[in-house]
Amino acid sequence: MKLKKAANISSLLTIRVADAECDLYFPDVVDDILLFTDQYDDYYVLSGGSNIIAGKIEKPVLYMGNVISGSDTDDLGEFSVKVFMPSWVSIASLLNYSIANGLSGVEFMAGIPGTVGGALVGNAAPAGDSWDDIVAVIYIVQDGEIYPLVPEYGYRTLKNRPERPFVVYGCELILVKDTPEGVRSRILHYLSKRPRIKGHSAGSLFKNPEGEKAGRLLEAVGMKGFSVGGAKLSDNHANIVVNSGEGCFDDFCRLRDTAIERVRERFGITLEPEVKFWS
Ligand SMILES: Cc1cc2nc3c(=O)[nH]c(=O)nc-3n(C[C@H](O)[C@H](O)[C@H](O)COP(=O)(O)OP(=O)(O)OC[C@H]3O[C@@H](n4cnc5c(N)ncnc54)[C@H](O)[C@@H]3O)c2cc1C
Repeated sequence: MKLKKAANISSLLTIRVADAECDLYFPDVVDDILLFTDQYDDYYVLSGGSNIIAGKIEKPVLYMGNVISGSDTDDLGEFSVKVFMPSWVSIASLLNYSIANGLSGVEFMAGIPGTVGGALVGNAAPAGDSWDDIVAVIYIVQDGEIYPLVPEYGYRTLKNRPERPFVVYGCELILVKDTPEGVRSRILHYLSKRPRIKGHSAGSLFKNPEGEKAGRLLEAVGMKGFSVGGAKLSDNHANIVVNSGEGCFDDFCRLRDTAIERVRERFGITLEPEVKFWS
């Protein structure tokens, strides 16, 4: 497995944090992932990099962008199929696969960046949707071994996630037999509802507190369009974090902390970051 020491990983993060750096491991095959998890107890897993703001990272980072293996399909009868999907498949490829094979269930992910692995771990979805209904099993790698986990999902979280670091290797999806045209038209419908985000971004900076919208709270305390260096909250949506130039890790941390402080002072609510901060 290739290792790049002190690699600048700005280009692997959709928000392009200028000074993001780490020792980066590139597994080629599944055995490399098994070896890595056997060798290290504490590490990060980087996939599409669309939900991460990173600085100088001390832990080793496993980059899942290069692994090679395919999907596999099991016919379950008249109505559905079971599909094994590797975690490193991009959401865009998953959607193309579902159109090509006329398999319905993942259309809600249209327009969301990243990979299957990142989505499975964070239950990424548009507001109100979830991976609950389509994932039968997630395959977890820990300590050099693979085991199945039946996931329990909550808002932006895998509730029964393992306590120690782990790698998602893949999952079994239960998809419904449909037609390519049917799947495509639902994907276009979801795409039409997506917000337009300009520039390099990591999506929503904070989770929505129960019964509230983080964007509303942030706008009320004057954070819409607010910036610290190159780190900025979007002019169009106060909870969308963007890089307006050469934003570095410290800029993003100060932006996050200012936002938390202002909302806490005014509303007594402590916002919880949705984006992962790694250092
Ligand atoms: C423009 C934009 C719009 C977005 N809109 C939405 C939205 O509407 N809804 C939403 O929920 N999210 C949204 N996001 C956030 C992001 O797209 C999702 O969280 C996505 O699922 C992250 O996937 P990823 O592969 O990029 O994961 P990464 O960013 O690489 O990682 C995210 C987290 O998942 C972990 N992880 C990733 N892969 C694995 C693996 N194989 N094994 C173990 N852990 C892993 C990482 O360690 C990290 O903790 C948006 C982001 C952007 C930039």
